[in-house]
Amino acid sequence: MTEISPAFVAVVTLLFGAAIGSFLNVCIYRLPLHESVVFPASHCRTCATPLTWYDNLPLMSYVLRQGRCRFCGTAFSSRYFLVELLTALLAVALVSRFGLTITAVGYFVFSAALIVITFIDLDYQIIPDVVSLPGTVAGVLFSIVSPDLSLWNSLTGLAVGAGVLLAVALGYRAATGREGMGGGDVKLLAMIGAFLGWRAVPFTLFSASFIGSVFGIAAMVRTNADSKLALPFGPFLSFGALCYLFFGEQLIAWYFGLL
Ligand SMILES: [Zn+2]
Repeated sequence: MTEISPAFVAVVTLLFGAAIGSFLNVCIYRLPLHESVVFPASHCRTCATPLTWYDNLPLMSYVLRQGRCRFCGTAFSSRYFLVELLTALLAVALVSRFGLTITAVGYFVFSAALIVITFIDLDYQIIPDVVSLPGTVAGVLFSIVSPDLSLWNSLTGLAVGAGVLLAVALGYRAATGREGMGGGDVKLLAMIGAFLGWRAVPFTLFSASFIGSVFGIAAMVRTNADSKLALPFGPFLSFGALCYLFFGEQLIAWYFGLL
């Protein structure tokens, strides 16, 4: 059997990732509006002209049309391009880390869910159950087929993820009488635990809180606002989870090496 060249695998993975990213854009836009992600086909939101396949080429159409509708010239948000690029790069990173394996496929599904959750949370400050709940089930199923995650680790991850944030949310409410953390964050951390195992939960919470605080302070300084400014936590949890996926074991080993 002839070897498949790594460069060929990388290019195919990149294109596949970008195509999935294009679908994730549809999910990000339509899920919060409770619209179907399948019908109708993509169309320009200004002139309603349906996009043909060559208007819909991931990454390339955006560059070729300079981010504008071919019919009416309306500028599309550069976020479409960003989401496609991010998804494509994550696909390549996962395949280069895990090879063409079931683990890479499972973590690509996980990453795709995190991307959708991140951008919907940024727009609406909600984390849709329609992503996080099936995502949690997917994490448990993934542990059954992947040699890299045991079922026990997935289930304890799910329980620790849901339990820790639920305790924090209930404690916050008992202490202040206000809702601090949304239930969406609880379900997201349960999904993260189900996909990455229980060790990922404290790591993700710690790194998300740390990065979130840095962003929060920067935003407060810039806008001169008081501490009531609510930052969505989902994007930081998602970022923390991806950090654990790629670097978690090394970072934990490094940290305990310091002690
Ligand atoms: Zn148009």
